[in-house]
Amino acid sequence: MMNNYNELWKAVLGEVEVQISRPNFLTWLKQSQIVGKDEKENTIFVGLPNNFAREWVKNKYHKIIFGSLRNFDNSIKGVEYVIFNPAGTVFSPILEKKSKTGLASANKASLPLLELKIDPKTNLNPRYTFESFVVGSSNELAHAAAMAIVKDIGQKYNPFFVYGGVGLGKTHLLQAMGNEIKKSYQNKINVFYTTSEKFVSDVVWAIRNKQMDDIKKKYRNVDVLIIDDIQFIGGKERSEEEFFHTFNVLYENNKQIVISSDRPPGAIPTLTERLRSRFEGGMIADITYPDYEMRLAILKNKVQERSIFIEDKILEQVAFKVQKNIRELEGVLNKIIFYQEYKKEKIDNQKLEEIIIEASQTSSKNVTINDIIKAVTDFYEVSPNEIANRNRKQEIVEPRQIIMYLLREILKLSYPHIGERLGKRDHTTAIHSCEKVARDINRNAAFNQKIMMIKEKIYKMS
Ligand code: ADP
Ligand code: MG
Repeated sequence: MMNNYNELWKAVLGEVEVQISRPNFLTWLKQSQIVGKDEKENTIFVGLPNNFAREWVKNKYHKIIFGSLRNFDNSIKGVEYVIFNPAGTVFSPILEKKSKTGLASANKASLPLLELKIDPKTNLNPRYTFESFVVGSSNELAHAAAMAIVKDIGQKYNPFFVYGGVGLGKTHLLQAMGNEIKKSYQNKINVFYTTSEKFVSDVVWAIRNKQMDDIKKKYRNVDVLIIDDIQFIGGKERSEEEFFHTFNVLYENNKQIVISSDRPPGAIPTLTERLRSRFEGGMIADITYPDYEMRLAILKNKVQERSIFIEDKILEQVAFKVQKNIRELEGVLNKIIFYQEYKKEKIDNQKLEEIIIEASQTSSKNVTINDIIKAVTDFYEVSPNEIANRNRKQEIVEPRQIIMYLLREILKLSYPHIGERLGKRDHTTAIHSCEKVARDINRNAAFNQKIMMIKEKIYKMS
């Protein structure tokens, strides 16, 4: 992170400036500055000269400002806009409220935003602990294995492979293992948490800069290597190869390897056979969907953690109605807390119904097939119609293959479905395209860059 607010703010304004009109920028933002930070909640206070500017900026530019701040420092969890005149008085309703009601209660109510500091050495987020992990039939095997490993690192179950759908607690469990190890062995055991996407980008960087030794140093000198979401490594040849060697070195030295994925090893397409059989050689545990009792237990647990009171019958309704995953369950709970604690509204059945609908809309604001097609065709400046027809010109073939790859990677569509969607092509064409793009990403840094830019567009759309 940039250590100096001035510098950080200058950088942010540089980004904002190109996204809004010149007169608006001069009118509203020229006199702005960062006036402080709430370290505990990682909230930045942006000062504006008067109330009008404050309201305007907050309503019109918050999204851009927040996004840009997070680009430079992704630990930032919020922005508050305050009135700041250079004479030095800071005024904001939030600050005022805090001084009236006492800091503690104000903090509690804003807990949904609170994310504790991530340890840069291990990449672990202290928020994820075993204590806060509710155990039930859907995760008890994975949990038991995780506990056993923490007591007996590298010996018992190696590698440990956990799989399950989105939002069911894989990251929480993996990080809890890391945090527990850190706590009970102090600094004697080196834990390192990363995602396979980060691993791939490290490999790409190392290849480009001819620094493969760096990778070796970084990943082979640990006692416990935790890799989250390994499925993204499939098809990225150089990364898979590097990971395979890392794996072997660690394994032979009785170092613990912990891996998660959204599906079992056998179902990760394009994962090389040798890596697959390594994964299958250890302990495999799945996490499935929580049942009603467990959903209710999770809700009660989270409410208690925050020392907030919510009526039992409301929690029961939530557990009954929200079945998708635990992340969504938390989302609904956060909204209830927001309405109840901040807006002082009574949560009755009708309000609850609205909240549930609202929450499911935000979470399904997912990427669509058309978002992907649009982002790619815009990027290549070709028309979506050409993509679907039989055109074999190279200008069309490349974007078409990338669309197929992204439909697979982001939306997990089946190969036959992908082929069908792109001009009734055969599923083998889809497989071939996905594999080719995955290979090119790995071999060609410029191509990889292109894909990253396209992905960025896609996520900005949805
Ligand atoms: P995944 O990595 O499988 O997509 P996460 O670990 O990110 O899922 O979990 C999503 C959210 O649900 C997190 O905020 C996590 O703390 C919470 N969560 C998941 N499982 C549990 C559990 N068993 N007990 C308490 N909270 C959980
Ligand atoms: Mg995860």
